[in-house]
Amino acid sequence: MEKKYTYCRICEGSCGFIAEIENNKILKYYADKDHPVSKGYSCIKGRSMLNVQYDPKRIKYPMKKVNGKYEKISWEQAIKEIGDKLLQLKNSFGPKSIGMYFGNPIAFSYSAMIYTQAFMRFLGSRNIYSAGSQDCNNKFAHSKLFYGSNVIIIVPDFDNIDYFLALGTNPFSSHFSFVVYPRPKHRLREMEKRGCKIVWINPRRISKDIGEHHFICPNTDIYLLFGMINYVLENGLEDKEFIEKYSKGIDDLRKIAKEFGEDLDQIAKMTCISKDNIVKIVNDFLEASKKGGASIYGRAGTDRGTFATLLAWAIDVFNFITGNIDKKGNFYSSGLIDVFNIANIGGLQSSEVTGTAIDKSANLSRIGKFPSLMGTYPAAIMADEILTPDDQIKAMLIVAGDPLVSCPNTRKLEKAFKQLELLVSIDFYMNDTG
Ligand code: SF4
Repeated sequence: MEKKYTYCRICEGSCGFIAEIENNKILKYYADKDHPVSKGYSCIKGRSMLNVQYDPKRIKYPMKKVNGKYEKISWEQAIKEIGDKLLQLKNSFGPKSIGMYFGNPIAFSYSAMIYTQAFMRFLGSRNIYSAGSQDCNNKFAHSKLFYGSNVIIIVPDFDNIDYFLALGTNPFSSHFSFVVYPRPKHRLREMEKRGCKIVWINPRRISKDIGEHHFICPNTDIYLLFGMINYVLENGLEDKEFIEKYSKGIDDLRKIAKEFGEDLDQIAKMTCISKDNIVKIVNDFLEASKKGGASIYGRAGTDRGTFATLLAWAIDVFNFITGNIDKKGNFYSSGLIDVFNIANIGGLQSSEVTGTAIDKSANLSRIGKFPSLMGTYPAAIMADEILTPDDQIKAMLIVAGDPLVSCPNTRKLEKAFKQLELLVSIDFYMNDTG
């Protein structure tokens, strides 16, 4: 029996696993207790991968829908028929008649990330959609403006910070999305044990026994952040040296923060977090900044509200003006794969355009006139791009995604997909879209 050391690719946790193999078959698959980061931790999804590997329901060959029923076909037939149809549509209606949607797993595969977009560029179509517009495109848009790259996302320095302010996130479910840190419960307990204060800002209770909770009214985090930023600037509590050295435009920030963040009584009413608590959170954060550092981290809840992009900016602004970016508090981590270089190689960075993080130099979408972000348009317009005549999409390639389930307006999207001349779903299970 041979032991192979590997890791789980389902989420950013990247938990270490061991596969025991005999005669080219995996007999056992379990969490690696000696892995330096995950230390034997794994969740049910990772542990189930052996069942997935040998699941008889897995699709291992192409299937074609004929008269409402799927039948097995050869790879040669699938590649030829799909290729012929794409070519015919491209020649008859232009490359824009072909669209692509890719799902979240693409983000965990460097080759898929590069080649899905490369394939569409080869065809000459920019009609690409992804799960990002339902999830985290706000972060990528903000990062382009703030740091100069869509894929520079800072993460909390869990080993050293003395204060962790978690907005709109449940790491026990998400395993600290973007942070690449498994064992969330153990990690947070260890942090509390060494004296780090953990504060949850969330409409829901996140933990029974870890941290302090403040139950915010949904979708009001941006007001809280403006109040906190203004409180720091107005009281001269910012890290002046850090700001002077690494930024420009602080006076503009002062004006904006004052306009939206001056009235803490009003902000307390809107957010349902008392003025005293807001002030205490800021002061505790600043106190910790003088020691090991402090961090605000926001995820799903802050990434999907009305002000998601502005909020991603405000979170980093607060981290920044308190001196908590890079030298302490938060740092840049390339994560599971070297996403910065891969984004450059694959042309996934939005173009440099003064004043905007999104690629206005490229074609705007036909429907809604939206610019693209990292080469993708919002998935919410996909149905209308298929249904609206003249230059509409006539073929969709769906890679590792199930847009009928994960995109808005399932009924409309279903109607649109049924109207396509070709729909190719690349997945190893039959999903709703397929
Ligand atoms: S936490 Fe993420 S990386 Fe770890 S086993 Fe679960 S799915 Fe895999």
